[in-house]
Amino acid sequence: MNYIDGAWVPSSSGKTFENRNPANTDDLIGLFQKSTAEDARRAVDAAARAYDDWRLVPAPKRGEILFRAAQIIADRKEQFARDMTREMGKVLAETRGDVQEAVDMSFFLAGEGRRLHGQTTPSELRNKFAMSVRQPLGVCSIITPWNFPMAIPSWKIIPALVCGNTVVFKPASQTPLSAVNFVKVLEEAGIPKGVVNMVTGDGDEVGTPLTTSEMVRVVSFTGSTKVGRIVNQAAAPTFKKVHLEMGGKNVIMIMDDADLELAVDGCLWGGFGTSGQRCTAASRVVVHEKVHDRFVEMFVARARSLTIGDGLDEKIQMGPSNSESQLKTVMSYVEIGKKEGATLACGGNRLESGAYAKGYFHEPTIFTNVDPRMRIAQEEIFGPVVSVMKCRSFEEAVALGNGVEYGLSASIYTQDINRAFAAMRDLYTGIFYINAPTIGAEVHLPFGGTKDTGNGHREAGVAALEVFSEWKS
Ligand code: NAD
Repeated sequence: MNYIDGAWVPSSSGKTFENRNPANTDDLIGLFQKSTAEDARRAVDAAARAYDDWRLVPAPKRGEILFRAAQIIADRKEQFARDMTREMGKVLAETRGDVQEAVDMSFFLAGEGRRLHGQTTPSELRNKFAMSVRQPLGVCSIITPWNFPMAIPSWKIIPALVCGNTVVFKPASQTPLSAVNFVKVLEEAGIPKGVVNMVTGDGDEVGTPLTTSEMVRVVSFTGSTKVGRIVNQAAAPTFKKVHLEMGGKNVIMIMDDADLELAVDGCLWGGFGTSGQRCTAASRVVVHEKVHDRFVEMFVARARSLTIGDGLDEKIQMGPSNSESQLKTVMSYVEIGKKEGATLACGGNRLESGAYAKGYFHEPTIFTNVDPRMRIAQEEIFGPVVSVMKCRSFEEAVALGNGVEYGLSASIYTQDINRAFAAMRDLYTGIFYINAPTIGAEVHLPFGGTKDTGNGHREAGVAALEVFSEWKS
């Protein structure tokens, strides 16, 4: 059901869509509403009406509701993680982490209800007092992808609410159950009717009213760069504040003095964690020529030893791709890599026999001898495919690291603190790691990317407040 104006209601279309388990497509998780533009408009209307009162609820009281929500999510963590693995495919350890991020974000930002600091400052005139305060903007459209089905909605919805905005939430169609779980928590925690609304369905049909309606003041979108560009253009004529978090082609740089065991471990989880379906996935590895061959040997051996299967089994380390279309994309890039002349060092095949027959499984795949101009070195694949490139120097590694359209995350493995800090300065990304992989956000730090990954905003941390409030002096 959709959630509009405090009620669980069917779509006016009378139609639904299926949500199936990507590890076993016989497993039907449920039917969800295939909503219309009219449903989306009703949700926006409800959010606009609710805003009049919600913005006047004292921020500490708004925070109290969000503290309650955080605790409810924490109490149901295991069930939510299991639901999420079933619909999204990533392994339980990762879905527990996803739910925990929603808990942490909700606790962290609920606390902002008692801060939301502004500035007081002297005036240049006598007997004049000067200050600036944060004010909410109104209705926020929240449009999210399927790879972090509870974490990403929480990164957006919780700061929007604590600032005093109301929300219309459109989750990805691949993971509607986690969205329903999250919205039910907010309802139970005591969010008044109309303050949070949720509409499921196709991106275009439901998304267009959410990005064009005159009543919407903020659009916060996470997803592909292609759709982000459409959202940005749709929202431009009505001058909405648009916050975009988009694709990535993140790099791990391994220098000749690196701890290779540590680096291989980072590449393994950075590249193949969540089956490569993270915006921060380490899909490129640049290795110094002096340690290249040894690194490749170790990395291939570790990749081959990963246990692949249904993420609900605790022993499994890598689950399926999220959907048939995602799997097809992976397979098409494997063909592209081969045609471009890269060396397939391991993997490269769909897994189809026995326990894999009903799912979208693919082998962890490593290409070596990759030219940085190849498509597999430039384009986001969003699957378990890593491209390894050789470099001769630190400077060349930095140039290769920066040599893509995206700018989300990067990392360096080295024992040389000067090189580590120079790399941190020179990689034009929103996130940087030293001796750790490109993945792993913390809720109190700003999160986001440069270039084609983002449009200058950040989520998480107090930076999130900048998206969902504006200054009044
Ligand atoms: P997607 O762009 O296909 O979809 C994202 C959302 O946009 C979905 O809810 C979809 O229904 C909706 N949508 C589609 N068309 C729309 C339209 N015309 N108007 C409004 N909304 C529309 O992305 P996806 O496949 O769900 O997610 C994968 C992508 O997300 C990858 O590119 C990944 O890098 C990116 N991502 C980025 C971050 C980040 O923080 N930078 C985090 C996670 C995922």
